[in-house]
Amino acid sequence: MAAWLSGEVVDNKQWCVDLFSLKIRTSSSLTFSAGQFIKVGLEVDDKLLARPYSLINTPQDSLLEIHFNRVENGLLSPRLANLSVGNNLQISERATGLLTLDEVPDIPHLWLLATGTGVGPFLSILKTSAPWQRFKKIVLGYSVKSVDNQAYMDDFTALQLQHPKQFCFVPFVTREKAPKTINTRITTSIENGELEKRVNLKIAADSSHIMLCGNSKMVSDATSLLEGRGLRRHTRREPGHIATEKYY
Ligand SMILES: Cc1cc2nc3c(=O)[nH]c(=O)nc-3n(C[C@H](O)[C@H](O)[C@H](O)COP(=O)(O)OP(=O)(O)OC[C@H]3O[C@@H](n4cnc5c(N)ncnc54)[C@H](O)[C@@H]3O)c2cc1C
Repeated sequence: MAAWLSGEVVDNKQWCVDLFSLKIRTSSSLTFSAGQFIKVGLEVDDKLLARPYSLINTPQDSLLEIHFNRVENGLLSPRLANLSVGNNLQISERATGLLTLDEVPDIPHLWLLATGTGVGPFLSILKTSAPWQRFKKIVLGYSVKSVDNQAYMDDFTALQLQHPKQFCFVPFVTREKAPKTINTRITTSIENGELEKRVNLKIAADSSHIMLCGNSKMVSDATSLLEGRGLRRHTRREPGHIATEKYY
């Protein structure tokens, strides 16, 4: 049986019409690795309704933070979006997930490619010191539909200023033209070489590890494209180059 911690909402930030982040204080601390997810639940009709959400804070932070879409007609996410400061929710006692740096072999280049709220686990990883000590170059591709859906841009800009030679931040905006962004899907930019050209780096099996997170079509299509270029899925048994997490 899953064990639960009780949590209290400390902040509910609305980024745009359907995009939110909650900061949560828990009754006791939770141990996790950057990149992992928890389950978040609310009592609905005397039953616990819970879904997985990535933690976007670092393991050292005292408050937990999740970043999520309000899904139209979804059972839980509209309720989470409605929470106010002081409201209670349930948090699984254990975090889990393999989208962590412990799983990444020693290679020079880390590529983090996300759609929408899938950027969350990468933000958690990038706010720790570990990746900056391990990798020569880190590329973050963050794709959203429109500029108003971009979140945490101040954090990415700050990381770029802190690590100007090591960090390449590439925003994608797919449904409108926006300056300094790539205006196609991540998969298109892998296929036509635009992403590699932008950061002046090649995705190659002998130098790259790629983490993909977010929309399942992006994750599946990008995996196929990368497999076509000789990269393999990473498992503990058979080390490879691609780690994935599909949100929906
Ligand atoms: C490992 C893991 C980690 C996750 N982490 C996050 C996270 O950090 N942030 C986050 O926003 N979501 C995350 N999700 C998705 C999340 O768990 C829920 O599925 C989502 O919030 C919808 O829940 P709901 O109860 O409102 O919708 P439900 O009543 O469960 O309805 C689900 C329907 O909504 C669709 N759907 C689910 N998510 C989305 C979405 N983002 N946009 C459009 N349609 C969607 C599903 O395909 C399905 O048709 C994660 C999922 C997994 C498996």
